Amino acid sequence: MQTIQEAARSVPVMAETGVLVVGSGPGGLAAALACARQGADTMLMERYGCFGGNITQAGVESIAWYRHPQTIEAGGIGMEFEQRAIEMDAAVPEIQSTSHALHTESFKYVADRLVIESDVRALLHCYFVEPIMNGARIAGIITESKSGRQAILARRVIDATGDADIAARAGAPCSQTPLSDRLGVTVTFACSGVDKKRFMEYVKAHPGSYKQWADETTGKEDNMFSPYIAEPFQKAQAAGAIPADVEIAGTWSSISDEGEATYLNVVYMPGYDCTDVWDLTRGEMDGRQQAMWAIGALNKYLPGFEKARLRSFGASLGTRESRKIIGRGSLSGHQTRSRARFKDAIGIFPEFLDAYGIVILPTTGRYFQVPYGIMLPQKVDNLLVVGRAVAGDRESHAATRQMMCCAVTGQGAGVAAAVSLQEGVTPAEVDIKKLQIAIKKQGVRID
Ligand SMILES: Cc1cc2nc3c(=O)[nH]c(=O)nc-3n(C[C@H](O)[C@H](O)[C@H](O)COP(=O)(O)OP(=O)(O)OC[C@H]3O[C@@H](n4cnc5c(N)ncnc54)[C@H](O)[C@@H]3O)c2cc1C
Repeated sequence: MQTIQEAARSVPVMAETGVLVVGSGPGGLAAALACARQGADTMLMERYGCFGGNITQAGVESIAWYRHPQTIEAGGIGMEFEQRAIEMDAAVPEIQSTSHALHTESFKYVADRLVIESDVRALLHCYFVEPIMNGARIAGIITESKSGRQAILARRVIDATGDADIAARAGAPCSQTPLSDRLGVTVTFACSGVDKKRFMEYVKAHPGSYKQWADETTGKEDNMFSPYIAEPFQKAQAAGAIPADVEIAGTWSSISDEGEATYLNVVYMPGYDCTDVWDLTRGEMDGRQQAMWAIGALNKYLPGFEKARLRSFGASLGTRESRKIIGRGSLSGHQTRSRARFKDAIGIFPEFLDAYGIVILPTTGRYFQVPYGIMLPQKVDNLLVVGRAVAGDRESHAATRQMMCCAVTGQGAGVAAAVSLQEGVTPAEVDIKKLQIAIKKQGVRID
């Protein structure tokens, strides 16, 4: 590849902070709130104009669609997201579980309130570009924004970009599932003009189930209701309206009384690398095309959707899987399925896996502990990584990518960053017992 030499230049320092969290999805938002509540000077930086990550950008509203009466949760900030959304009229009962689906537009405002109330310093429309390194220690980042190229100095950095952007550029070892096995990307969309009554009557007569789309379950999931639709798209394909090599099928979620289907997750496209700007471009455009084919099929073949129209696309392509760090600790799929216990646990997550054709629902009280070591990158100090980029094997990603689990790792890392500052040690040197006491005090279940 042809290269050019960038000129060296002085960069103004726009801010100094104790802890800088970059990225504001369920992982980063939880990290910033937890850290500030633990008493640290905390800044939360986000490249787009709102906090929330996949919730507000891709419109993913089903934050806990796995929850059943027996499910045991960590509590903490993930549950607070849902509870606060309910209180602010920004959530409705979710269709297949005992949880609530978020109103993803309103969640932008919910997140604003949480950030303001916790005294987190907010910075939107600002892009991470490069880490500032002092040997093996990260000391801040270089940013780009409408204000130009600027630096933020920070004593601890939390990488919540979802793609381990900071860890990778700082030289921490990372991995990516081969593209052929990686989870697909999605352009989500919403429709208006749905005849809710007619659609719900159809669903009652033709209920979907998990066995229609899962290759592997424990058996107990098979006949449970799933808001899954495939038939209209198959019919459209048979009629030649959708190309033969395109597979459209997936789930619907909330349908408002005004006839809005607010989150249609039926476009699923494998083979896109979300750390490659050309693939991101292709993903957005291919996804919008597929969404339009999907709406055509819904109009023609799904009762209640005859007059449905596109209301909105997700504001950004939805990524399920990209770069992950190779951590100082690790987590395997086997451990998520076998109630694993860890000395350095910072929270728990129910036995819930959803990815790679596996669907295991926590209809029992089983759960595994989430280890601290999966958030500690190798070779770089003063950096923590949260959310879907934490360490673990391919199958463990089916659990750690879940938004509630991202909030568990986020909250654990946020508290750890604050404690490490207060104790004057690096995050890797934090006294685990002290950390666990602090996390429990924030209302998180650890054991
Ligand atoms: C279509 C789809 C459906 C899904 N369905 C569900 C579901 O039903 N339930 C569930 O629990 N999970 C679901 N997931 C998975 C879940 O949404 C993600 O795994 C989760 O949001 C990851 O959280 P995160 O905080 O790690 O990252 P993200 O939510 O991706 O947030 C990362 C944030 O970092 C910001 N950022 C990235 N790079 C930079 C940079 N260089 N500078 C500044 N900011 C940056 C981004 O703008 C973003 O706000 C779904 C995912 C998709 C795509």
